[in-house]
Amino acid sequence: MRAVWGGFALGVLFLQWQAALPGRDGWFLLVVATLAAVSWAALTARALAGAAGCGCGRHNDLHDVSLGRGRPDDAGACCARPLAGRYYGCRRRWRRWSGWLAVWLAAACIGFGYAAYRAQLRLAVALPAAWEKRDIDVTGYVAGLPSYAEGRARFLFAVQSWGTPDAGAVLPRTIQLTWVARDAPLPPLVPGARWCLPVRLKRPHGERNFGLRDAEAALLARGVRATGYVSEPLRALRLPGEAGGIGTAIERWRAAVRARIDAVLAGKPHRGIVVALATGAQDAVSAADWRLLRNTGTSHLVAISGLHLAFVAGLAGWAAGALWRRARWRGIDAPLIVPAQKVAVAGAVCAAAVHAALAGFNVPVQRALWMLAVAAAALLTGRNVARSQVLAWALGLVLIRDPWAVTAAGFWLSFCAVAAILFVVTGAPGARWDNRPDDVAELVYPADDAPDAPPDAARKRRFLAGLAGAARGLVNRLMSRLTGGARVQWAVTIALAPLTAYWFAQIPLVGPFANALAIPIVSALVTPAVLVSVAIAPPLDAFALRAAHALLEVLAVVLGRFESVPWAVLRLPQPHAWTLACAALGVAWRLAPRGWPLRWIAPFMWLPLLAPAPAGPPSGTFRLTALDIGQGTSVLVQTARHALLFDAGPGPESTHAGERIVVPYLHAHGVERLDMLIVSHDDSDHSGGVQAVLDEIAVNQFVAAIRPEHPLLTSARRTGAQVVQCAAGQRWRWDGVDFEMLWPDAGPLVHKPNAHSCVLRVSTTAPGEPSAALLAADIEAAAERTLVSRAPDRLRAQVLVVPHHGSRTSSTEPFLDSVWPLVAIFQVGYLNRFHHPHPGVYARYAMRDIVLARSDIDGAVRVEARPGDLAVERFIDTQRRYWMDAPDVEPI
Ligand SMILES: [Zn+2]
Ligand SMILES: [Zn+2]
Repeated sequence: MRAVWGGFALGVLFLQWQAALPGRDGWFLLVVATLAAVSWAALTARALAGAAGCGCGRHNDLHDVSLGRGRPDDAGACCARPLAGRYYGCRRRWRRWSGWLAVWLAAACIGFGYAAYRAQLRLAVALPAAWEKRDIDVTGYVAGLPSYAEGRARFLFAVQSWGTPDAGAVLPRTIQLTWVARDAPLPPLVPGARWCLPVRLKRPHGERNFGLRDAEAALLARGVRATGYVSEPLRALRLPGEAGGIGTAIERWRAAVRARIDAVLAGKPHRGIVVALATGAQDAVSAADWRLLRNTGTSHLVAISGLHLAFVAGLAGWAAGALWRRARWRGIDAPLIVPAQKVAVAGAVCAAAVHAALAGFNVPVQRALWMLAVAAAALLTGRNVARSQVLAWALGLVLIRDPWAVTAAGFWLSFCAVAAILFVVTGAPGARWDNRPDDVAELVYPADDAPDAPPDAARKRRFLAGLAGAARGLVNRLMSRLTGGARVQWAVTIALAPLTAYWFAQIPLVGPFANALAIPIVSALVTPAVLVSVAIAPPLDAFALRAAHALLEVLAVVLGRFESVPWAVLRLPQPHAWTLACAALGVAWRLAPRGWPLRWIAPFMWLPLLAPAPAGPPSGTFRLTALDIGQGTSVLVQTARHALLFDAGPGPESTHAGERIVVPYLHAHGVERLDMLIVSHDDSDHSGGVQAVLDEIAVNQFVAAIRPEHPLLTSARRTGAQVVQCAAGQRWRWDGVDFEMLWPDAGPLVHKPNAHSCVLRVSTTAPGEPSAALLAADIEAAAERTLVSRAPDRLRAQVLVVPHHGSRTSSTEPFLDSVWPLVAIFQVGYLNRFHHPHPGVYARYAMRDIVLARSDIDGAVRVEARPGDLAVERFIDTQRRYWMDAPDVEPI
């Protein structure tokens, strides 16, 4: 089954990389390939079984010999053909390998087909384009535990009926809504509560940036086919009655647990962690806690992980077994009816299932639950199943339930950690350690009861020897436990290092030490205290919750010490696929059992991972990346050795683009220091994310067109950046690339922010036709006129980041004629409320045969500008996935 589930997982993964779902031809090919692979596998299995069984009659069990478990020696002995022996040996080996390959291929085809089928079903459900951004009344119920942040609640809503005539489409059953407390406070949003809500919806859409996580895939995985907000909260109507169903009941229970924790620990700093440990909801974890946990490599402890589940299951199993051993039924000891071991296993699985439900069935928890269930089923039915088989089954079951799990970090971290542990434990000399306790027992309990018991002196001597032996044994046992624990910790650390580099662009070097301390505290003390609080009634639960919080306070202090170590976190650029593959191979090599050849060369395979950040573009050229940050502006300009960020997109007031997109993008691309951060003007779609960048990235120069009393200037000074007011005439040269500020004029900022936006021109200086880019921020017609009247030639640029997001106020004809761009980039949000870009303005560009890129459709855009040459890469052209829905663009 390992081959089957491995192949299945590969097939599922391969589908999630596709730009489109298979069409009719694709399905036909898939079916043919599957049938061919299955037939070949069956033929090979039969041939091998026949060969193995010829003349001996020993191998009727096809399973036993199928595809290579056969014994070549048996076959050789049975079918002894001395002259042709080598030939048959070769053929047999080839058959075995091709048979396994066929099994893999068949399983991969089935996995691919299954994931494609599920995707087709899910994508068939869609919000009609005509319904987007219109007020619609929906009736239904709150389907999940709401998450709260800054006066807004976000929750899943199960729609029972749409208050708009049916458009003939299969309408979404689950939508994600945001309820903002504007005119009235938020109502209690209890799971199961029925509501009639006026809403405005969009199809699911996530920002599309090179190397960052895909939010749209996460929505698809959750079955959310429309997102939106409650448009008129005052018109929302609470309907009588509650929705039923076991799912709703579980959600209601989670909500009650959360409400109780909020009440008991109100105002406490680590309340969010307690909520996360009890319910799996992580929205309440404070930013400070997240930062601390991330930098010490302990953030996995906040998620209800497989580790916690195993702990709960173990505890429950032990308790169930212990109770059962003492139980009697009609005068007969209970264990005589059903063995205590089986009761313990059943108890463990039940407790794990309840805990997994409380955790909202996240992928690591599912993985642990399935592993436990498969292992329990094997035990109850008396089968002996290898640990890797159990993991393979869990892999298959997780992917059958959710084929999109492979797009999430949790899936990879969870499965790779367990695979590494199994790999290293299987290869370790575990058997020797396990025997030691028996040796100890023999020493402690010598054969005193034997009839020929020795005299007193001898007995005393033996007793003392026994004591010494016991002490020695205990120390040995402790040492072996510690060595075993360290070995597992080491395996997990090095196995996850390439993955954390890929997903989070960092490796917390203090992680193993912090974990060695934090795992026992959280698993053995905090989590049980939290779970006890869930199980017991108020007001007693308050003691357990306060105890858990007190432990977390201690832990936070200790982790803070770890975080303050100068080498705590190693920042790495996101590795390429081949670097990742090379490092993964290195990990497997290093963790291989002793005796594996050349284990010492394994660390060298990690070198590409640790290589310095990818070099910037060649000297004399520049790379411009217009990020997809929704409605707003954020552009990264890189030369060979310098980096400049022009605006940082919207902030906490809308989409948190600064911390969600800009900072992770800079980390992932190895930009740990900005030589310059420009804030073009004080509108939140440009300056909102700046604080997040200042918090995380070192900045040399902070150039801004904002008023002197603005808090961002104080923040920038505090980080040590040199603060300069943005003014026309500033120019500098980096690595053979010229930068020139064209606007605003020096002096106090008296007009509204758009009018004094910074305008930056970047151009190559090497011989040949120069390539230039113009970043026009939000200037409007008046500023454009002034710029054109001053020096139209200085505006000339092949790449234009369109002024004011393509608004009607800007992009006047004379300005466009002066710039004369070949490529125009519109940084606009999907279905933004300003209706940018304006159709007339968009048409003005299209009519000039300019290559257009808009972030709401094409995602991020990367331009490599060399003298006389431009290379433009739109995210959607090279990284498209089948779920990325192209919105209907208004006709020009
Ligand atoms: Zn703007
Ligand atoms: Zn503006």
